[in-house]
Amino acid sequence: MEQDRRPFLQSLGLPAAWVGQTQWRILDTSLGNGERFLAAWHAWKADPQRPRLLHYVALEADALSATEWQRRAAPGSELAPLAQQLRAQCFGLLPGFHRMAFEGGCVLLTVCVGETKALLREQQFEADAIYLADIAAPAGKTSPDTELWDLWTCKALAHCCRRGTVLAAGPGIPLAVRRALVQVGFVLDQDFNQPQEAGIPGCSSLRGTFNPAWIPKRRRPAIAPHDTHDLHDPAPRPGRCAVIGAGLSGAAVADSLARRGWQIEVLDAASAPASGASGLPAGLLAPHISPDDNVLSRLSRCGVRLTLQQARALLREGLDWQPTGLLEHRVDGHAALPAQWPEAGRDWTALASALQLAQAGLTPTALAYWHTQAAWVKPACLVQALLSQPGIAWHGNAQVAALTRADRGWQALDSAGRVLAQVDMVVIAAGFDSRGLLASATGVAPPLQAIRGQISYGMNAAQAHPGPSNLPPFPVNGNGHLAPHVPFGSGNAWFAGASYERDNANASHNALDHEANLQRLQTLLPNAARHLQSEFSSDRVQAWAGVRCAAPDRLPLLGPTQQPGLWVCTAMGSRGMSMAVLCGELLAALVHGEPLPLDARLARRLAAQRFDAVAAPGAEIFNKKGL
Ligand SMILES: Cc1cc2nc3c(=O)[nH]c(=O)nc-3n(C[C@H](O)[C@H](O)[C@H](O)COP(=O)(O)OP(=O)(O)OC[C@H]3O[C@@H](n4cnc5c(N)ncnc54)[C@H](O)[C@@H]3O)c2cc1C
Repeated sequence: MEQDRRPFLQSLGLPAAWVGQTQWRILDTSLGNGERFLAAWHAWKADPQRPRLLHYVALEADALSATEWQRRAAPGSELAPLAQQLRAQCFGLLPGFHRMAFEGGCVLLTVCVGETKALLREQQFEADAIYLADIAAPAGKTSPDTELWDLWTCKALAHCCRRGTVLAAGPGIPLAVRRALVQVGFVLDQDFNQPQEAGIPGCSSLRGTFNPAWIPKRRRPAIAPHDTHDLHDPAPRPGRCAVIGAGLSGAAVADSLARRGWQIEVLDAASAPASGASGLPAGLLAPHISPDDNVLSRLSRCGVRLTLQQARALLREGLDWQPTGLLEHRVDGHAALPAQWPEAGRDWTALASALQLAQAGLTPTALAYWHTQAAWVKPACLVQALLSQPGIAWHGNAQVAALTRADRGWQALDSAGRVLAQVDMVVIAAGFDSRGLLASATGVAPPLQAIRGQISYGMNAAQAHPGPSNLPPFPVNGNGHLAPHVPFGSGNAWFAGASYERDNANASHNALDHEANLQRLQTLLPNAARHLQSEFSSDRVQAWAGVRCAAPDRLPLLGPTQQPGLWVCTAMGSRGMSMAVLCGELLAALVHGEPLPLDARLARRLAAQRFDAVAAPGAEIFNKKGL
């Protein structure tokens, strides 16, 4: 293994090439059995002069399930501990981008599943090093893949390069591909480029550098900042950043930027973090499903994957969160999975089994799905854990009343005009209040909606209600939800909800909402509702209410605003736990011109200025490809 690893790392000039760099970005045209990624990760780990962040982007032609990955993965070796961590995250790799984080989020693997040319065109970053794999002898083929690696694919590859990007490949790259690479701007090393005309399997390894004779075109980012400085500097120096709001959104942004070296001041109007919607005592983390696997479904899977990774890394299992899996009861009886749902999809969601239906007290004919990758989470614990990361300072009782441009950056002012923070960059993550802050700072108020919600909860008195069949052993959602067994205070609580009241930004409690929550539960889980009825009608039932913030299309609002250095991350709607961590990573990736944690096409759907375009037709927000 050591022998296999060395040529790969050497061919990319590693580890010497990344010394003194803040980030290093490797693009590999095939995930293969994961060996090359593991080698790069291992080298990064062993190098005291490693970059702060290692990005490894690997392409993969076909969807991969956990079982398929087990069959393919690199055999055990001294890298076995790393391979084991990789295996734990290699599940449900459907077409699209999948982000896996290791080493506290400092080693980031993005597996991109799909057709090579299309995937290369979707990339939004400039690689420092590219490895061409699977061209000479692609899996399942006996001859080189010259058909795929035509001039257009090589052009798409060149778009992922900066001047100086190193290119390497094993032996056997056909002459036609070498010629195309030269045509698009690569200069191939003579030593590695022999024999010149044979170009058949068996010829020596390839090495080169992207150094075209012309000025290469820069790719516009998925969500282009209006600030030209941001646009032309793909890796700005981390400076000082104020994040307004200490809920899931603000904490996730703070964590993602701090990991890249930013000094973060988190300002919140309340005296404690997670005092807004993120103060929800316990909520559910589960993917969304739809027959056409729509934007929200794909987005939610990207987000759930990342939140699960953060929860595993930062929270106490069984106390702060629990990866229980979750049953989704389709009370309307409408099927919700695509007709062709591959094995990789079943790693996420499948039809519920007869046992699961029975455990939920549902009839065998009820339509329900089982989400394997799902959990209950206490969002305030996640917020606290994220805010505790190095580089983040939290300030309570710091209500931002205005944002003004300063010489170099921004000032956040309180209502008395006192400066709360003076920074290079501001991220507004203030839930529904983001609307007012954005309106005053940019002159444009995005059409955000406040949606009040209340949950009902109570303690599971084990002595009073013995018996395992009273409540299901796992959370259930569908029409409303029930999280039946969550450690709470000195006992164990159930949580049922939640009401959904549009255009109400008042988080006070309302007795009528208990009735509405019970009614919902009667449809969702009739048995459980019968069991909890007496609790609902007693004074033991308790309430928690909060205000969600949602955009008209129910997708987060994320990215740069029209003002240079002013960004936004809000509108998580009813899915803050699925979306916030993903949005934090996406925002940081956009700031630094890094590989995105999700498909660029999905990222564009979140653009903060997508509603400004409606107000001002012709405004250029998205890149040339549009939505
Ligand atoms: C009843 C209910 C049930 C829910 N259930 C789930 C669930 O099961 N799963 C799920 O994923 N999501 C659920 N959600 C949604 C989830 O709670 C939210 O999407 C998420 O918490 C939003 O986080 P946020 O950081 O964007 O906003 P918030 O948590 O509201 O944070 C905004 C912060 O900004 C601060 N702030 C506001 N204005 C200012 C200012 N001017 N200056 C300084 N600070 C300011 C506030 O004090 C607050 O701390 C639920 C929501 C509700 C209400």
